[in-house]
Amino acid sequence: MGDKVSAKQAMIESGVPCVPGSPEALGDDDDKTRALAAAIGYPVIIKAAGGGGGRGMRVVDDEAALLQSIAMTKAEANAAFGNAAVYMEKYLLAPRHIEIQILADTHGNAVWLGERDCSMQRRHQKIIEESPAPGIDSVRLAEVGERCARACERMGYVGAGTFEFLFENGEFYFIEMNTRVQVEHPVTEWITGIDIVEMQLRIAAGEPLPWSQTEIVCQGHAIECRINAEDPHSFKPSPGVLREWIAPSGPGVRVDSHMYSGYEIPPFYDSLVGKLITYGPSREDAMARMRVALGELVADGIQTNVPLHQQLMQDPAFMEGGTSIHYLERWLADRV
Ligand code: ADP
Repeated sequence: MGDKVSAKQAMIESGVPCVPGSPEALGDDDDKTRALAAAIGYPVIIKAAGGGGGRGMRVVDDEAALLQSIAMTKAEANAAFGNAAVYMEKYLLAPRHIEIQILADTHGNAVWLGERDCSMQRRHQKIIEESPAPGIDSVRLAEVGERCARACERMGYVGAGTFEFLFENGEFYFIEMNTRVQVEHPVTEWITGIDIVEMQLRIAAGEPLPWSQTEIVCQGHAIECRINAEDPHSFKPSPGVLREWIAPSGPGVRVDSHMYSGYEIPPFYDSLVGKLITYGPSREDAMARMRVALGELVADGIQTNVPLHQQLMQDPAFMEGGTSIHYLERWLADRV
């Protein structure tokens, strides 16, 4: 495969629902490009085929800006990724980010382990993830999950993987596949009782998946808050010596972190220093435990985004569930 255009083509062939867009990289025929954008309907988004990390994308609102935006995205993509190929998609205005976890073995079997809602993002970086995704029709979800598992079998995919979707007005639109274990995998581990990292090792050792799809049961609700060493207002990284670190614990609380009192957080890496995950029989229980756990976490000597998480855990729209991928950016802009 190699790039996002061929990944998308493989999904279309497997019946995984995709964002309407150009079937291949955009060519040099301007009339054809204009006709394509008109058929998809504005706004459209131009994306680098070799892109990643939320870079190499540009939204186009009308035909006047189309060709120039494509030229600029191509030039940037070439400079950043060494690949000038770009493609076009319909730009969804207020989608949620919903993703499906899969596991596939070397014997041609694949299962899906429920979904995650990772819509709470800043600059395309997820900061809160949860499973299940609030308020999504379980029948439609199962259809999409099945298609993802079958696509893995068809592609001969092996290991843990995630199908990322934008979700708007009850429809799923595939955007990309992450061919690895992700930061947010603990929420899935908790509601399924399956250790995804253990399964990766078993799969690599050639073991078959020990369950069929009907044996995968999702129970309760899990939420993850990414703990970043950063100023909760300016988001400036906050490296330095962690004078005291106390991780919360107790029933329904999990902390994945390499921190300890006296640890020096170097300035060279991502600011993620830990993951706080809570579980409860209901979403309300998981949120209540998260509020208590956030209050118990001590990280003296540096700044963290814990105060931001505390505010979001009390935010009426988050508590209601179903906020879009733009919610947090707007919330931050309105914050005093
Ligand atoms: P990357 O590999 O760089 O992460 P993605 O294709 O996963 O690129 O897109 C990253 C983010 O960009 C998405 O999570 C979403 O916020 C936004 N985005 C991408 N495609 C669309 C689209 N068609 N409509 C609206 N937003 C989009």
